[in-house]
Amino acid sequence: MGKIKNTESYHKTELKDIKSYCEEELKEQMTQMGEKPFRALQIYRWLHVERADTFEQMTNLSKSLREKLSKEYEIRTLKKEKVFVSQIDGTRKYLFRIPGGSMIESVFMRYHHGNSVCVSTQSGCRMGCRFCASTLNGLERNLTASELLEQIYQIEKDTGERVSNIVLMGSGEPLDNFDHVVKFIQLISDVHGAHISQRNITLSTCGIVPEMVKLADLHLQITLALSLHAADDDTRKTLMPIARKYSIAQVLDACRYYFEKTKRRITLEYSLVAGVNDTMQEAERLCRLLKGLNCHVNLIPVNPIQERDFRQSGQKAVLQFKSRLEKNGINVTIRREMGRDINGACGQLRNEAMKGRKEQSDGKPDH
Ligand code: SAH
Repeated sequence: MGKIKNTESYHKTELKDIKSYCEEELKEQMTQMGEKPFRALQIYRWLHVERADTFEQMTNLSKSLREKLSKEYEIRTLKKEKVFVSQIDGTRKYLFRIPGGSMIESVFMRYHHGNSVCVSTQSGCRMGCRFCASTLNGLERNLTASELLEQIYQIEKDTGERVSNIVLMGSGEPLDNFDHVVKFIQLISDVHGAHISQRNITLSTCGIVPEMVKLADLHLQITLALSLHAADDDTRKTLMPIARKYSIAQVLDACRYYFEKTKRRITLEYSLVAGVNDTMQEAERLCRLLKGLNCHVNLIPVNPIQERDFRQSGQKAVLQFKSRLEKNGINVTIRREMGRDINGACGQLRNEAMKGRKEQSDGKPDH
């Protein structure tokens, strides 16, 4: 695996990224500047509640402090490049430009239980899953905590609606960007900030075992989703290179450990690929594997990408697979497809944009 480039080098200035600091860190920064620690909460609220994008807006700070802040820090925002709006269900796909010239995508979905955003955690990905579009050009760089927050903040600003749920299921492997992602979860769930409940946040991983254990030890209240996608190691290896490093037994042990530590039920994602992992034999194996694990299985008919020749399982195969699991007392849902008319699976939109192709979406770009 290649070395990741230093994220900071993408930013032209040496100014510090103030939105990535938690309140405690901001207090330390204030003390170092010779300011009173209570200034930290004022600034923090301006950034994370009022969503100020300049220091001038922070009117309860003295002019001299505002000037001092702007010499040392900057308020980084994401540039909204395009929005695609689904005519079917109102799903909105956003393309944001990040420093360094690249693009990331985020998706806004409306559900009966509230608004949900699917955020990207990296620009590109180095995990190499065979069916996934995000990984086709490898990893470009990790996103910072403020770049993760900004995906939510920009979408709330654009829609004028509150986001109540977050899934870390966009481009990238969240546990391959561990520190920034954990920082983001702490900031977005903070009572003094956007205050989105950790119980409404789901982190999806391809199964990097040591990082799953590290995450469990933090005792966060988020849901852990594991991309399992197969019930035997050989099949999993053909779909996901990470399976060569960790066996299914090892990743499921890490899931059990996560449950022990957090008491949060695990989600298992299973993308059904016709003739590869959707057989009844594989369903049986899955039932045996999951015995005794407090989990919920999310079946996703694979979204075929142009660059690979995987086929989606037919509806009959999906339903048979589902009912086999249900007969064994396993909790299963089939993921509802959102925004079908504005370009499917993870990373597809970004790839199109990066190739500089003309928009081919049927959805209406409104920017
Ligand atoms: N790196 C994380 C997040 C990835 S995206 C992970 O691996 O979990 C979230 C889910 O979508 C993962 O389960 C991923 O395997 C799945 N996915 C990616 N591309 C897909 C496609 N073309 N069709 C169906 N599911 C896909």
